Amino acid sequence: MPAIANLPAFALSGNTLHAEGVALTDIAERFGTPTWVYSRSAIESAWSEFAQATQGRRALVCFAIKANSNLAILDLLARHGAGFDIVSGGELARVLAAGGDPSKIVFSGVGKSREEMRQALAAGVRCFNVESESELVQLDAVAGSLGLTAPISLRVNPDVDAGTHPYISTGLRDNKFGIAHDRALAAYRQAAQLPNLRIEGIDCHIGSQITEVEPFLAALDRVLDLTDQLAAEGIVIRHLDLGGGLGITYRDETPPARGAMLAAIFERIDAWVVKRGLTPAEGPEVLFEFGRAMVGNAGLLLTRVEVLKRNGDRHFAVVDAAMNDLMRPAMYEAWHDIVAVAPTSAPAENYDIVGPVCESGDWLGRDRQLALAEGDLLAILSAGAYGMSMSSNYNTRTRGAEVMVDGTAVHLVREREQIADLFAGEHRLPAR
Ligand SMILES: *Cc1c(COP(=O)(O)O)cnc(C)c1O
Repeated sequence: MPAIANLPAFALSGNTLHAEGVALTDIAERFGTPTWVYSRSAIESAWSEFAQATQGRRALVCFAIKANSNLAILDLLARHGAGFDIVSGGELARVLAAGGDPSKIVFSGVGKSREEMRQALAAGVRCFNVESESELVQLDAVAGSLGLTAPISLRVNPDVDAGTHPYISTGLRDNKFGIAHDRALAAYRQAAQLPNLRIEGIDCHIGSQITEVEPFLAALDRVLDLTDQLAAEGIVIRHLDLGGGLGITYRDETPPARGAMLAAIFERIDAWVVKRGLTPAEGPEVLFEFGRAMVGNAGLLLTRVEVLKRNGDRHFAVVDAAMNDLMRPAMYEAWHDIVAVAPTSAPAENYDIVGPVCESGDWLGRDRQLALAEGDLLAILSAGAYGMSMSSNYNTRTRGAEVMVDGTAVHLVREREQIADLFAGEHRLPAR
């Protein structure tokens, strides 16, 4: 039977949807629902496309771990040599716990605390992506107090429209991220004066779920332009960190292939290097920070239909996963394909797939043609990125298990939460 479009690791076999060689019905029976199901081969094939595209080049492909920070995924990518883009001390601890190499960690984020700066300096991260002039001063002070030098790049805001949802577009002038392009030169001069900082690179990240190459190239042009301006002042840029943001196919989007996208970027950098009379070894190293494109289509959320009901003209399928598990539909009106794990030929109805949370915004999919019975299993596809990592315990709902399928083996990589865990740190008032 054919694989689901675009998702080779997930296919029907004997009329049951499988993850690699394992029936999702078996996973539901063993681990319950809702459960996040990841495919090791899907993650490895995404990784290997990036690895091939950077082979023989001075490049470091990082995984932006906020997309999915499960230790098994970090461990897998670390074994393949990935770097990691982190945005908190918590994410630093996860990378270290998973065996990641601190010298391949870049630390992004618009509001790093001094404690997080200390932790990252002590761990020996590769670079701090600094997002404001104030952060330069704070980081210099923290590094000085530890007798260390902090490697930095400045996150510049190239003012490029990534053509994506406003909530996930980050490269425009008036959002909170980065330093405006026209202030970047002055900020670099300031950084060059601070004794406990060492300028390493330039960083940008223009948004997420970008499906065209052009915004990346436009941002690159601005970064190269700034590199020239800095060189004229004697400030040497050793690496360009071009961030993440490469989109995936959720429905009918046609993002560039990973290899083609990187090839287009390298072509432009190579031309710039040649024009300046540099050898490739003298040109900048290139860093990337991909999240969604690494894991988005490598995971699904397995859920069971609890109740079918009809209100007015609308048919609802209430499932046991909800907005607290997968927040993207409620937050961004994101579209995820939803398919039956054991499809039947019964007549389909038009369903809204909703969760049990007490919010009208708690929906996972609208207007889906499905033939459903109570108790059926559904798979919410393309849920490997910004799924579990954005989940919450709203409505005191325990979060689901996470499993990683590897051929015919299934590894439990996060246990289902227990209700008692959810209020274990809370206290009643003393008697008075
Ligand atoms: C979120 C984020 C990424 C990853 O974005 P994707 O769209 O998942 O590739 C990379 N860099 C920074 C700074 C981010 O905030």
